[in-house]
Amino acid sequence: MAARPVPYLDELNPAQRDAVEALDGPVLMLAGAGTGKTKALTTRIVHLLNMGKAGPNEILAVTFTNKAAREMKARVGRLLGQTIEGMPWLGTFHSICVKLLRRHAELVGLKSNFTILDTDDQLRLLKQLVAAANIDDKRWPARQLAGIIDHWKNRAWTPDKVPASEAGAYNHRSTELYAQYQVRLRELNAVDFGDLLLHVVEIFQKHQDVLEQYQRRFRYILVDEYQDTNVAQYLWLRLLAGRHKNICCVGDDDQSIYGWRGAEVGNILRFEKDFPGAKVVRLEQNYRSTPHILGAAGGVIRGNESRLGKELWTEKDAGEKVRLIGHWDGEEEARWIGEEIEAMQGGTRGMRPFSLEEMAILVRASHQMRAFEDRFLTIGLPYRVIGGPRFYERMEIRDAMAYFRLVVSPEDDLAFERVVNTPKRGLGDVAQKKIQTMARSNGVSLVDGARLLLDAKGLGGKGAAELQRFVDNLARWSRMVGSPELSHIELAEIILDESGYTEMWQNDKNPDSPGRLENLKELVKALEQFENLQGFLEHVSLIMDNDSGDDGEKVSIMTLHAAKGLEFPAVFLPGWEDGLFPSQRSMDENGIKGLEEERRLAYVGITRAEELCTISFAGNRRVFGQWQSSMPSRFIDELPEDHVEVLTPPGLYGGGYGAAAPRTGGIETRAAEANVYNSPGWKRMQSRIQDRPVSQPKESRNQVIDLDAVSSHTTGERVFHQKFGYGEIIGIEGDKLEIAFDKAGTKKVIAKFVCGADD
Ligand code: ATP
Ligand code: MG
Repeated sequence: MAARPVPYLDELNPAQRDAVEALDGPVLMLAGAGTGKTKALTTRIVHLLNMGKAGPNEILAVTFTNKAAREMKARVGRLLGQTIEGMPWLGTFHSICVKLLRRHAELVGLKSNFTILDTDDQLRLLKQLVAAANIDDKRWPARQLAGIIDHWKNRAWTPDKVPASEAGAYNHRSTELYAQYQVRLRELNAVDFGDLLLHVVEIFQKHQDVLEQYQRRFRYILVDEYQDTNVAQYLWLRLLAGRHKNICCVGDDDQSIYGWRGAEVGNILRFEKDFPGAKVVRLEQNYRSTPHILGAAGGVIRGNESRLGKELWTEKDAGEKVRLIGHWDGEEEARWIGEEIEAMQGGTRGMRPFSLEEMAILVRASHQMRAFEDRFLTIGLPYRVIGGPRFYERMEIRDAMAYFRLVVSPEDDLAFERVVNTPKRGLGDVAQKKIQTMARSNGVSLVDGARLLLDAKGLGGKGAAELQRFVDNLARWSRMVGSPELSHIELAEIILDESGYTEMWQNDKNPDSPGRLENLKELVKALEQFENLQGFLEHVSLIMDNDSGDDGEKVSIMTLHAAKGLEFPAVFLPGWEDGLFPSQRSMDENGIKGLEEERRLAYVGITRAEELCTISFAGNRRVFGQWQSSMPSRFIDELPEDHVEVLTPPGLYGGGYGAAAPRTGGIETRAAEANVYNSPGWKRMQSRIQDRPVSQPKESRNQVIDLDAVSSHTTGERVFHQKFGYGEIIGIEGDKLEIAFDKAGTKKVIAKFVCGADD
């Protein structure tokens, strides 16, 4: 077949071209951020197709996220100038393994219609096994076992392969439990997430004919973000590429950020051993970022001992320096970023205008998103959260909110159903059915139905006692609502503690539980901006109600992990404080290795930026109503001074908005005292922090203005709404106002969230 012309090769530099045109044999592309690895990989797919080396269904291409897979497919189509008939084997490890496992399920004792268990089912199963083994589940909770098993599966250890040295937990019965768990899964015709790879690797290892079938089918293998593959994924690739060795892996050791999930950066280093004669291509020209951004990123990553060491250069103009700004607290930081984003849309500080699509906020921990989401909702700035639910949609937040709702409105049956058995109170389906029947036949709410059921002794055993405690607690908390002795914030903490909900997550050893606890703390923090629980609940229901869909331009919010491989013209990196970033947990658990992984995460963050990178930190964060002052991140000290401009905090604290603080020295000192903290604004900020009582007077800007009388409004009046901004009242209906907003269109809102335009 005659090759078509290849204009797409002209878009590449010689090193990239080299990697693309070396179609056969092993290729390793090892290069820093933004050097065009993904571009080269995509072009390679196009070239394989164009040269007739393989059909779309003969190429196995592995990316890290579904989003990346979609983008790669689109790019291939664009470069090829035609829509391709789909590439069935372009996807994530998991999506590809599901397909393979469905075809060969019987080889590992499953049927092809196996189910993939979610975490809840998985835990239920493990709990039963731990109980049956007579192991104290307080000392050894099932969630911990889930984490251990996941870790083993990532290393491709089946129960018989787990080294004895790793199997001490659960009174040395962890491997036995693991084996039983695998048996139970097979009986249920189910797999967990880790099994997807593990089973396929096992099939390939035990059934040579099947392996050969796929070795022939996948004529070419391509892997993006290779530095983040774990051992099981690595084995899988090595098996598939074993015959023809047409494998091209691209990665960057400096961007390895999944060590905590079992990724092995050593896989990169092993590549040349496993595939002798591999062509190794290094790319050094960065096409994404300005020299200042690269200089800042390079300065930080230099702090890592264990790295292969690469230098990047770019032809771009110097551009803006990386901007650094300190804030008094986290709310202030969110506020400043919101204002800055709005200003940047119009062009500010002599820079070009940036559209919302061109801007992104990258956070270390997902709980940091809450402050931004609340702030953006308040000022009506459209945003999207990438790679996870929005804050108020998270499971733990919805659970906690259900408790609050139930305390404020005991007849909220949906809320009752959600939390009656969360945490587990031995009130399963049978008990819940009884409650529902009782409630329905008496025409009362579920809470009252539960009370009637208890009175009628219609429930026995442990469940009855637990239900009694639950309804008694609810009644008690409801009586506390509005109590002068107790703030709604304290009440919220009491509810979360006494219900056992917080404890449930504290005992949970899954890697994501600490994050959930952080989110709960963040939820309590959000309450501080409201007068009472009702006001807060209404605020949230308005937010959830007005999900503006996916049309229109939006600023993106995501974690640093989710940002891997992406790029944005302007990036905000908030929360650079020791303990938050680098994360204390990561350092505590993994010492220097943990710190180095955090530093790579910082490198990933800075290198997402094309033109403008803004790093910020707060001097204080509130945790459960307590002020905790924080030190700026040690990574800030590592930013080379030449590439950084220090902005003074906003006018509120003295110093002009955007005026550079006096610089008296390098940024190398701990806490960057020499410059950021010598600014008059910072000193004033410090004195305010010290003077400030623990219980803060509310600041009017954050407060929901509670208007008693709705009649204080008239049609035609100009008003301001927390979320939608300015508008004019065009109708009044009870406590609801119909308002034509300047920016948000016409909406019905609750009067209490509205105040006069010039208040
Ligand atoms: P990361 O390590 O962050 O995943 P990467 O090495 O995969 O980065 P790409 O995303 O492929 O880098 O490329 C970064 C940017 O540079 C993209 O916008 C891409 O289109 C552009 N680019 C890559 N190669 C070239 C080139 N030879 N000429 C011009 N632009 C290029
Ligand atoms: Mg990439």
